[in-house]
Amino acid sequence: MDLKEKIRVIPDFPEKGIRFKDITTLLKDGETFRYTIDQFVKEVEDKDFDLVIGPESRGFIVGTPLAYALKKGFVPVRKPNKLPGETLRYEYKLEYGSDVLEIHKDAIKPGQKVIIADDLLATGGTIYSTIKLIEELGGVVVGIVFLIELTYLEGRKRLEGYDVRSLVKY
Ligand code: 5GP
Repeated sequence: MDLKEKIRVIPDFPEKGIRFKDITTLLKDGETFRYTIDQFVKEVEDKDFDLVIGPESRGFIVGTPLAYALKKGFVPVRKPNKLPGETLRYEYKLEYGSDVLEIHKDAIKPGQKVIIADDLLATGGTIYSTIKLIEELGGVVVGIVFLIELTYLEGRKRLEGYDVRSLVKY
């Protein structure tokens, strides 16, 4: 199945010069959505891990079905002031702008192995900060899976030393 065919590219969103990869067209197609999650499962099912971590908000969309399929827990990493419990925060730079991410302090126990799932790897800033949060809590990142990788932004370089997988590359 050609996943690229189902991903819509929108020029100049959210800013001029950015060619936004819109996955809503893929998600609304039931067969393709299921196939996508099945591919995520194949990438990580051989690994020993306890949790799937997904950054807000598209990381929730791909991360929760992956966790469900493999009977693992899911931990959200969220934009600031959304999580109700005590949080750890990290500030990061995006492909466009900058932002803050938070995780519940008790979300990961020291030594727990985790997989990070997100829709897209651009500069790697989001996942780099997600890793920082996880490792600060004592979690061990055993794999990172993306639906899309924008190879020309070289986000993979920023994630050197980690097992990074992606289903579709631009
Ligand atoms: P990074 O932190 O790697 O620079 O940017 C990745 C984050 O920004 C991801 O969480 C992703 O959801 C969002 N993002 C950046 N560009 C795009 C895009 O073209 N399409 C989609 N769907 N998300 C994007």
